[in-house]
Amino acid sequence: MNKTKIAWTERTWNPVTGCTKISEGCRHCYAEVMAKRLQGMGQKRYKNGFTLTLHPEALNEPKKVKEPSMFFVCSMADLFHKDVPFEFVDRVMETIADCPQHTFQILTKRIDNLYCYLIEWLDYPFQSIPENCWIGTTVENASAKERIKTLAELKDSPVRFLSCEPLLGDLGALDLAGIDWVIVGGESGQQARKMSKEWVLNIQRQCAAQGVPFFFKQWGTWGEDGVKRNKKENGCLIDGKVCQEWPKILYDNPICTELIKHLAKIDSMPKNTYYKLKGGQQ
Ligand code: SF4
Repeated sequence: MNKTKIAWTERTWNPVTGCTKISEGCRHCYAEVMAKRLQGMGQKRYKNGFTLTLHPEALNEPKKVKEPSMFFVCSMADLFHKDVPFEFVDRVMETIADCPQHTFQILTKRIDNLYCYLIEWLDYPFQSIPENCWIGTTVENASAKERIKTLAELKDSPVRFLSCEPLLGDLGALDLAGIDWVIVGGESGQQARKMSKEWVLNIQRQCAAQGVPFFFKQWGTWGEDGVKRNKKENGCLIDGKVCQEWPKILYDNPICTELIKHLAKIDSMPKNTYYKLKGGQQ
């Protein structure tokens, strides 16, 4: 359960590792590359490489972290993969409910399975996910847009977010009703596919028009100017500005306000973003 450099979270928690590919966004899966590398390094948790593996021994890990933290759940897997039994998802949710001091972010490409979990397994809306659990789905191109509608239906989730990363095409018109946060980023790595600046601006404009916070994570291997280079050099600025807003809930809730102060300390989140969002004091 490590601290992470992923700009929109703080820590990763992996009670499941390994996955199988389901859509275009998976083609150069970072988790697959990492899992194989960690297997090669002899790390126990990755002895099966990228084959889906449950880790019951990891279920209680967040309870050991006292400082309120933001956890990305299953950064090395998809919790709603068909081979993860709903009984095991229940155990993940129990830990989340037992840790109200933390915020948990679940990101899935299998939003229909998550929907089944809620409707068929939990008898939603009578029983739902814990209130410190954010739910997100990946929308990497226009054909993945149908996932947005399903996510928007989960009305009592505190934050429903989209991860448009790696952004692989123009998303066209977006209906963001019921969506609380949009993250956008380009692909990295030698094989990375190019992300056009116009695709990014199209999402940014629609977020602004529909009042949805927009978080631009990175250009990736292809820069704002369309040139291939090191992703660090390409950075995360759009027209010279950091565009990293957070969901509104973070500014309304005292626990989350503490969290955002904490997030502002992370190198990748410029401190002026926090102050700007808090009302312009610096
Ligand atoms: S769903 Fe996520 S973890 Fe699974 S293969 Fe696709 S990108 Fe990788």
